[in-house]
Amino acid sequence: MRLSQAFIPTLKETPAEAQIASHRLMLRAGLVRQMSAGIYAWLPAGLRVLDRIANIVRDEQDRVGAQEVLMPTIQSADLWRESGRYEDYGKEMLRITDRHERELLYGPTNEEMITAIFRADVKSYKSLPQCLYHIQWKFRDEVRPRFGVMRGREFLMKDAYSFDISYDDAVLSYRKMMLAYMRTFARLGVRAIPMVADTGPIGGNLSHEFIILAPTGESQVFYDKAFEEIDITENAFHHDDPADLERFYQSMTTPYAATEEKHDEAAFAAIPEDRKREGRGIEVGHIFYFGTKYTKAMGVTVAGPDGKELTPEMGSYGIGVSRLVGALIEAHHDDAGIIWSDSVAPWAAAILNLKAGDAACDKICEELYAALGRDALYDDRSDRPGAKFADADLMGMPWQIIVGPRGAANGLVELKRRATGERFEVSPAEALAKVKR
Ligand code: ATP
Ligand code: MG
Repeated sequence: MRLSQAFIPTLKETPAEAQIASHRLMLRAGLVRQMSAGIYAWLPAGLRVLDRIANIVRDEQDRVGAQEVLMPTIQSADLWRESGRYEDYGKEMLRITDRHERELLYGPTNEEMITAIFRADVKSYKSLPQCLYHIQWKFRDEVRPRFGVMRGREFLMKDAYSFDISYDDAVLSYRKMMLAYMRTFARLGVRAIPMVADTGPIGGNLSHEFIILAPTGESQVFYDKAFEEIDITENAFHHDDPADLERFYQSMTTPYAATEEKHDEAAFAAIPEDRKREGRGIEVGHIFYFGTKYTKAMGVTVAGPDGKELTPEMGSYGIGVSRLVGALIEAHHDDAGIIWSDSVAPWAAAILNLKAGDAACDKICEELYAALGRDALYDDRSDRPGAKFADADLMGMPWQIIVGPRGAANGLVELKRRATGERFEVSPAEALAKVKR
C-alpha cells in the first residue's frame, strides 16, 4: 500500500476519550473509529491485524481437529427458551422483534444454536467426538463499554463447542483445546497463563481463563514464575496423545495461578518468595466444560455402543479476537507507538522514502515495494523525514526500511527493528531477506 493513497487516518493529538494506551494508539494509528458506544468500524490497517489474528486462531483450531462453521448473528428467542437462558441472560442481551412480531436476539454466544444443529443431524455415538467452531460477531449490551475494543458491545469472538460420549473423552477435548490456546497465544507473540475460573452463567465445573499480563488489565493476578519458564513451542506435546495431553495439562495446572476472584492466600504464601509473581491481567480466552447442561435441557441423545441412548457431554471455548488487538498493544508498545509482532503486523515492513523525487531513493523504494507487494506499507509522501519516522513508529510495523539519499547513492538502505531500535546498514536484497514473512 502506498501511504500517499492509503486510508490510514493517523492522529497527532491524543484523543481525550481514550483512557488506556491501546485505545489511544488504536485511534491514533487509524486502526478503528467508534460508531456508537462500544461499537467500532475497522479501518484498513486495523482490519488487516484483526484478520491476521483470526487466521492464527483458525489455524490452531484446525490443527487440533476442530472444524469451522459459520452460524448467524441473529438467533430466535425460542431456541434460548429451550435452555432456559432467555429469561436468565438479562439486559446484556439485545432483543429484537421482527415484522411478524417474532422475538429474535443478536447472539451473545452460541451454545443453544450449536446444540440445535448437532441435535438435528447426529444420531449415533459413532459420529463423536465432534468439535465445531466459528469466528463471528457477538453483541453484549455491557453496562460499561470501555477501553476501546477491549470491552466493546459488538465484538469478534472465536467460539468452539465440543461433543463427546463420556466425561473422560470430554476431558481430552478440554485439554486439547487448552493446548491449542497456548499454541495460539505463543504465535501471537504474547504469554498467556491459564487460571482457574468461575463457570458463571454457563455452569459446569471445569473452567480456565487465559490471561495476558499488562499493567492496565482489569483483574489482579497471582502466579508462579514457572509459567515464565514454559516454552510451549519447544515442548512438543502431541494433541492426539492422551499421555502428552496429561503431561501438558499438569504443567499448566500444577504451578499456582489465579485471578483475584479465585485467589488463595495460603497457597500463594507457600510459593518461595523469589518465584511469586503478581500483576494485572487481561482475559483473552475462556474455556469451559459443562457436561450435559445444554444437551439435557434441549433433549439431545445419540445411540450408544450398547444401543441405549446417551446424552453427549459438551464444552465451549472462547477467544476474544477483537479484544486481542487491544490486548496485544497493551502488552507491546512504547511512548512512540505500537510494536506489532511479525505474526500479526498489518504490514511486515514500512518503506520510508526520505527524499521522494530523488532518483536513487525512488528507484530503490519502488523495487523494494514491488518485491514485498501487499506486505509493505510504502511511505512515498513528500513529508519531512521526522514525520515519516514518527508515523512508522506509531503504526508499529516490525521492520522499517529507511531509504535516504546518502545511502541510496551507494546502494544501501537502513533496516530498523521496531521492537529493539536496532539499525543495520544493508543492501536492499539483504533487507528483503530479513523482512519477508
Ligand atoms: P469478561 O469477564 O471480560 O466480561 P466473559 O467472561 O463474559 O468476559 P466469555 O463469555 O468467556 O467472556 O467470552 C469469551 C471471550 O470473549 C472472553 O475471554 C473475552 O476475550 C471476549 N469478550 C467477552 N466479552 C467481551 C467484550 N465485551 N468485548 C470484547 N471481547 C469480549
Ligand atoms: Mg470469561
